[in-house]
Amino acid sequence: MPDTKQAVLVVGAGVAGMQAALDLANFGRRVHLVEQDSHLGGQTLRLDKVYPTDHCAFCPVWTHAFACREHPRITVLTGTRFKGLRRGPEGDIALLEKAARLIDGDKCVFCGKCMEVCPRKALLGRAPDLPWDPAQPPVPWLDAGRCDACGKCGPACPAGAIDAARQTETFEIAVGDCIFAGGFQEPRPAPAPEFGGHTHPDILTAMAFETLIAEYNAVPGEKLRCPSDGRPVENLAFIQCAGARDRRFLSHCSAVCCMHAAKQASWLKRRQPDLDIAVFYTDLRTPGKGQEAYMKTAEKLGVRFVRRRPGLAAPVDGPSGKGIALRHEINARVATTLADIVVLNGGLACCPCPEEAAEAGAHPCGFCSEPADIANSVIQAGSAAALICGRQTGKDASSPAYRGSGGRP
Ligand SMILES: Cc1cc2nc3c(=O)[nH]c(=O)nc-3n(C[C@H](O)[C@H](O)[C@H](O)COP(=O)(O)OP(=O)(O)OC[C@H]3O[C@@H](n4cnc5c(N)ncnc54)[C@H](O)[C@@H]3O)c2cc1C
Repeated sequence: MPDTKQAVLVVGAGVAGMQAALDLANFGRRVHLVEQDSHLGGQTLRLDKVYPTDHCAFCPVWTHAFACREHPRITVLTGTRFKGLRRGPEGDIALLEKAARLIDGDKCVFCGKCMEVCPRKALLGRAPDLPWDPAQPPVPWLDAGRCDACGKCGPACPAGAIDAARQTETFEIAVGDCIFAGGFQEPRPAPAPEFGGHTHPDILTAMAFETLIAEYNAVPGEKLRCPSDGRPVENLAFIQCAGARDRRFLSHCSAVCCMHAAKQASWLKRRQPDLDIAVFYTDLRTPGKGQEAYMKTAEKLGVRFVRRRPGLAAPVDGPSGKGIALRHEINARVATTLADIVVLNGGLACCPCPEEAAEAGAHPCGFCSEPADIANSVIQAGSAAALICGRQTGKDASSPAYRGSGGRP
């Protein structure tokens, strides 16, 4: 019988989950790293560069993902969703659901024949919402919403990598401990309807905007263009706390949006100094090391930080111009400004640890436990791993400072 009781289940393979898995494995624990997506890296993989260093996001994430896949004590389960945790007579039992997988990555040679025969163009070269292709080696990406399971791709595959009779599989594993690092999501529909999120191509969430500028950054000399009609952008507005710090929707601060607005605005200003960029904010929050200086750099580059929250964003196309009209109340009078693109920031919802898993003693860490940037998510993950390892060696196990705090002192 394998030593399953001592294995630790780590749910979510974003930066937090991968860090926790590596720390545990390096300490000698066996780890099951479970990720619902087809790849490791979480939301960070969707970023182009990261504040406060402006380094590329992909390289460190890819290095961590590679280390997890290669580690002899880590079993990586992608395409697998954590459904719950219950206490069994001999330890905890985790319930997992393995998604039906059309393409077997071990057999696929990425020849593209399945993409050619798909009548609904449901098979693509890479996931459309990621600036990078995380699959190594690459496999075609299936848009499940478009696929009508016509079965044409199976016979076209020369490597026999396509299983058209795929089915979802549910299974259980025994685990000694569990770390939940489920991260965050941008809620759909967008939480504050007055800003028109997801209703017009030129009103973008920060994550969608990150993908847009990653692609534009990749083409030297290219000007930023409106997604709606391709016209060059002249002015851009960021609305901070859109749906966040708002009792109607998400009452918490998303913690990372002031900084990533400064990051995105600075890149754009460096590349296109003539762009007019306004960041409409409630307060600017820069608590981390070097963050205030980072914000000041954005100001020096010419980004306008305006302390005001517009009340409405709506597309207009008439004699007064074309774009997204922002309505503000200034000194009891209503003023309107026009922007070519509006970026909605805030409204990042923490993925909660399932209740029964929390009751069974799962340790939340990373963004799901509280909104946190990469550095803080990784610190939390290390603390959660240390808590579990300390318990194994008899150290810290009963320390009241650690109990019930998601591994944070
Ligand atoms: C637009 C934008 C720009 C940002 N820019 C920066 C930046 O420049 N610098 C910075 O430090 N931070 C930045 N951040 C914040 C950064 O993205 C987060 O700090 C980081 O992603 C948190 O990592 P995480 O591992 O906790 O969560 P995530 O990255 O969200 O990963 C969680 C993982 O868990 C998986 N998961 C969830 N539920 C389950 C389940 N039930 N079963 C299996 N798997 C599950 C998800 O699929 C996901 O892969 C930015 C955020 C946004 C929105």
